[in-house]
Amino acid sequence: MEFGNSYVQGVYDGLAKRYPEQKEFLEAAGNVLKSLVPVVEANPEIEKQGILERITEPERTIMFRVPWVDDAGKVQVNRGYRVQFNSAIGPYKGGLRFHPTVTLSVIKFLGFEQIFKNSLTTLPMGGGKGGSDFDPKGKSDAEVMRFCQSFMTELSKHIGPDTDVPAGDIGVGGREIGYMYGQYKRLRNEFTGVLTGKGLTFGGSLARTEATGYGLCYYVEEMLHCMKNDSFKGKTVVISGAGNVAIYATEKATQLGAKVIALCDSNGYIVDNNGIKLDVVKQIKEVERGRIKEYAARVPGSEYHEGCSGIWGTKADIYLPCATQNEIDEDSAKKIVANGAIAVGEGANMPSTPEAIKVFQDAGILFSPAKASNAGGVAVSGLEMSQNSERLHWTFEEVDAKLEDIMKTIFHSCYDAAEKYGMKGNLVAGANIAGFEKVCEAMLAQGIAY
Ligand code: NDP
Repeated sequence: MEFGNSYVQGVYDGLAKRYPEQKEFLEAAGNVLKSLVPVVEANPEIEKQGILERITEPERTIMFRVPWVDDAGKVQVNRGYRVQFNSAIGPYKGGLRFHPTVTLSVIKFLGFEQIFKNSLTTLPMGGGKGGSDFDPKGKSDAEVMRFCQSFMTELSKHIGPDTDVPAGDIGVGGREIGYMYGQYKRLRNEFTGVLTGKGLTFGGSLARTEATGYGLCYYVEEMLHCMKNDSFKGKTVVISGAGNVAIYATEKATQLGAKVIALCDSNGYIVDNNGIKLDVVKQIKEVERGRIKEYAARVPGSEYHEGCSGIWGTKADIYLPCATQNEIDEDSAKKIVANGAIAVGEGANMPSTPEAIKVFQDAGILFSPAKASNAGGVAVSGLEMSQNSERLHWTFEEVDAKLEDIMKTIFHSCYDAAEKYGMKGNLVAGANIAGFEKVCEAMLAQGIAY
């Protein structure tokens, strides 16, 4: 990777030499470092104080063995990780991912990104991430519980409500958080807000379920308003996925006056030009845990198509990728541009490849990067921490109003940061810079603490 700045180049080359096998982490670090070149050139203290060398190295990396017993009585062993990346602005905060593809590189990539995402939320949260190569799919509840208890037995030595507050991520939902919370409480004899994403009966926050999808729409609405004097009202929208983020993005976009016409799962996509009936989708996906294909059988006038990539050929004004990483490649991006799209807002983590982002930027389409537009989830997790500390429970409306305010503020931070460094309208660079500036200032103020 070329940076056109010898200091930034040296930092990146050092990482590439030390961690040649950590491809995901190197890609994420390289992309952020690239955006920071103008900031480094304007602020000599960054080089003098070694800020980039420090921010790209985790404060602490914990790796551990997770032994557990399966239903057949056999001992299984998985690997557990917690990367405590940066605590300059608050306790480490970030999810736990349980998936067979989890490696140290993946956890470092996600933890590094989390530093800037959390900084953008305006809440006092540092960056961290953790997880295991354990796969909850196909395991019994009892197996998942034994795994979670073993995982937490080690993790509990390293976390705490003022130290590190993990949350869920892929493979870690309400069931896993509940089992881990129970084990932490048993080990420490403390009822504290050490995890977020908890059930509503033991400290969870209202509106956490809706937060990422709603937050995405609040952000995109503000982007449309400020950059195009426009809004969701009267627009057609294509949303990928049919999970948590996609469902609540559909709900909010519809409330804001748009018509959502397509959704998908990993098998195929549906198109309903009359507007997706969300009650039918919720019944299929949330209640019956079925496939999106069933929608077409239940709603006259809608269609189902096998395969997912065709969804990007569906003509609409706004596209919100909310399924998975790298779901929009260069070809799909070109289809979106050819369809006359005005905006793309990322709900999933890293859904657009770098080539796709370039297509959007060259075409002048409004584009919001995930670390800004999907920050609503972690923002409400931060609000869950506040409620736990206060021993209070806010209403849905209170949390939702704070979420909307945070998402609008995030948009303006990204927009202003890009403009300040001569890249007006480039929200990718703006998100990296705005997230970095606050952490950098805190690190400079705290001396060589880490
Ligand atoms: P869910 O598991 O609830 O939903 C994911 C949806 O995407 C499912 O409908 C799934 O279909 C579909 N999907 C998965 N892989 C593909 C694929 N290759 N092609 C098409 N569709 C696919 O996850 P979430 O909604 O919670 O998360 C979605 C994304 O948003 C992830 O990237 C996640 O990291 C990110 N995110 C989520 C947050 C949250 O609060 N939930 C917060 C921030 C980011 P199927 O059922 O067939 O697998």
